[in-house]
Amino acid sequence: MKNRIYDVIIIGGGLAGLTCALHLSKQGIDVLLIEKDTFPDHKVCGEYISNEVLPYLNSLAIDPLAEGAISISKLKISNYNNKEIETTLPLGGFGMSRYYFDNLLFKKVKEKCKVVFKTVESISFQSEIFTVTTQDTTEYKAKYVVGAHGKRSNIDKKLNRKFSKQQSPWLAVKAHYDYEFPLDTVALHTFKGGYCGLSKTETGAVNACYLTTYTSFKKYKGIEDFQKNNLSKNPNLKQFFSEATPLFDSPLTIGQISFQPKNPVENHIFMIGDSAGLIHPLCGNGMAMAIHSAKLFSELFLKQHTTKKMNRSSLEKEYEKHWNNTFSNRLKTGRYIQKLLMNETTAGIGFSLLNTFPNMLNMIIRKTHGNPIQHA
Ligand SMILES: Cc1cc2nc3c(=O)[nH]c(=O)nc-3n(C[C@H](O)[C@H](O)[C@H](O)COP(=O)(O)OP(=O)(O)OC[C@H]3O[C@@H](n4cnc5c(N)ncnc54)[C@H](O)[C@@H]3O)c2cc1C
Repeated sequence: MKNRIYDVIIIGGGLAGLTCALHLSKQGIDVLLIEKDTFPDHKVCGEYISNEVLPYLNSLAIDPLAEGAISISKLKISNYNNKEIETTLPLGGFGMSRYYFDNLLFKKVKEKCKVVFKTVESISFQSEIFTVTTQDTTEYKAKYVVGAHGKRSNIDKKLNRKFSKQQSPWLAVKAHYDYEFPLDTVALHTFKGGYCGLSKTETGAVNACYLTTYTSFKKYKGIEDFQKNNLSKNPNLKQFFSEATPLFDSPLTIGQISFQPKNPVENHIFMIGDSAGLIHPLCGNGMAMAIHSAKLFSELFLKQHTTKKMNRSSLEKEYEKHWNNTFSNRLKTGRYIQKLLMNETTAGIGFSLLNTFPNMLNMIIRKTHGNPIQHA
């Protein structure tokens, strides 16, 4: 229908966009979700999800554990000097591939709202109505737009967002492997210039995902050489990469991963998930934050919608306030830990301190995670 005006258009069907679409459409909001890729598909991600989102997901009729997610309760950290720390995670989490998890949400979403598979090219706002134009020049109209387009997208450039004009030093590599690995553990093994996460997914495969800098990576001939001659200086990673059987034809890679601060509202667009801010992956909290920010926006939106007192400016202010109160400190702590861990001297001191005072590790984990988020 050419002149249809949706209540909300959501751009991007990752965990943030899918959760938001599900939450709003379950409450009768007329939602259009626009996603550029198809489902199911693999994504570069550590695939460890904090349990803080479980009660909320359950309230949306999503039950990852019933779908085969692996329950994870322990964390093991090691460095290339063969220092190791193990702890029980305060809240724990679950392992599920993005291939399965995103598709699980998508199947629920498509029962409730319209989904189109197109790339959004531009967004304009005039007389209180948004026009969202896709690559094939189709125009979609809505009263509100949610940006759930992930860490870096063509849209960020179009919106002139500051971070999109800056180069980022980070890249990431991920693949699934056949390997004997404890079901209840997520491991974080550091190497010169980065760190690698290992945990099991619902298929029984181990997901290995690492983040590193272009400066470290370009000293080697390619992924295999980098894994063999840099990552493998950490004995845990040496054992993994020499014994594990790759299950992908080749690993997935992404570049230009930016951890710069972003604004949760820009040009009247409500940003959720990584579009609002990406926490350093070592915290293992990005997916929980994506889901939580979708809940934050949905609840504030519904509060105004049900009282029939929609006020764009107050909704923007409320969302910004809640987003900052909930996530700003987590992001700051994440940046701080990442800095400490990437520096050989401070990382060494950190490992010694954590070995002497193991409770400190749980304190740090709590600072980068939230409490269980309750029902919708
Ligand atoms: C190396 C690495 C490891 C990580 N490991 C973990 C971990 O173990 N645990 C954890 O909790 N978090 C982890 N994270 C963070 C986590 O991956 C993200 O926080 C999470 O994916 C955010 O979800 P999202 O929905 O915001 O974005 P995404 O999942 O990236 O979804 C964005 C969607 O928008 C779509 N899109 C983009 N542009 C357009 C457009 N123009 N038109 C239409 N669609 C568009 C994309 O196709 C995509 O599907 C990791 C991140 C990295 C980089």
